[in-house]
Amino acid sequence: KGQPKLASNSYLEADMLYRDRTQVGIENATMVMLVRNRELEGALSSMRSLEDRFNRQYKYPWVFLNDEPFTEEFIEQTMLMASSQTFYELIPSSDWNMPDFIDNERVEQNIANSTDVIYGFSKSYRNMCHFNSGYFYKQKRLLNYDWYFRVEPDVEYMCDFQYDPFTLLRTNNKIYGFVIAIHEYENTIPTLWPTVEKFMQTYPDLIHANNSLKFITTNESSLNHWVTPIQSSSDYNLCHFWSNFEIGNLNFFRGEAYNKYFDFLDRAGGFYYERWGDAPVHSIGLNLLADKNSIHHFEDIGYYHPPYLACPSSKDVIAAKRCVCRKRGNDGEVIDSAIDVNVFSCLSRWWRYGAGKRFL
Ligand code: GDP
Ligand code: MN
Repeated sequence: KGQPKLASNSYLEADMLYRDRTQVGIENATMVMLVRNRELEGALSSMRSLEDRFNRQYKYPWVFLNDEPFTEEFIEQTMLMASSQTFYELIPSSDWNMPDFIDNERVEQNIANSTDVIYGFSKSYRNMCHFNSGYFYKQKRLLNYDWYFRVEPDVEYMCDFQYDPFTLLRTNNKIYGFVIAIHEYENTIPTLWPTVEKFMQTYPDLIHANNSLKFITTNESSLNHWVTPIQSSSDYNLCHFWSNFEIGNLNFFRGEAYNKYFDFLDRAGGFYYERWGDAPVHSIGLNLLADKNSIHHFEDIGYYHPPYLACPSSKDVIAAKRCVCRKRGNDGEVIDSAIDVNVFSCLSRWWRYGAGKRFL
């Protein structure tokens, strides 16, 4: 008594419920990181942050995926950084490389003409986006799990979690959680939306009755009224969940609807003839095929992936979760930067047009 009252909300209640009940996480879940050997330092830094802020109290395993064999050094160092078991998986080359039906000459031509497209020059980046769009969830090791938490090298988690996000999703009938919603670069996806429209015409029965299409198709200028809104030349407004942070249910991605969707996009060729990213592909899949009530915005998870930082807006939450909501510039200077109020953010649009029921 006499103590100041801390922020009380469903998150903290979820924490009480599940942290008291067990010392380790109770979900069939894993961390997963696609990473190159040369990114070891960044991988360790991300792990250190996530272990300290969350996983050392829950001890979920880590699955590392690579298109090349991991080095002994990578294995040893990451094993030491993890609080639990680690697995190292070599991606089959047929899951990583261009499918046979892709015309290599046409790809080379597009790559040569893509100097103004972000990562347009890189064939391996296209393989990576293709893999993350349609193959990560098919990897053998991941078949053992229902839930995944995607982690990238060189990211940082700015707050204590204080509850199990997998449990929060499961007990509230959610299948996917994101932190940052943002606009895609239009010149990476010239024909993605027309392809999605064809998909919708071909498989109308796969579209969820309570979908969140409005989140990605509304276009009005009043949301961020102090800046010029980003305009898309198609009905797609370019909004998507930033997929370098994802907590999701693998069974959604392994399901029939998502795979029909991925195969349809794959055949259209845009992963290679253009530079489609896995973020808009995952997002549009979710917005089309999933119940909007099953998609969750983690407003209380602070997260930094260069160049964007997202942090809780409530001072109570920042204090209770020990958030450090700053990032450092290249010269070491401290910058406060919140993507949520930035022109590139789609979060206001999500709250207005996408977000369904928050909790059960
Ligand atoms: P960005 O976030 O779009 O700037 O792209 P990143 O360079 O961070 O790549 C996204 C994720 O894919 C990261 O986890 C990388 O480690 C991983 N990645 C990218 N290219 C490759 C690759 O050629 N091989 C492997 N194994 N991982 C890759
Ligand atoms: Mn990245």
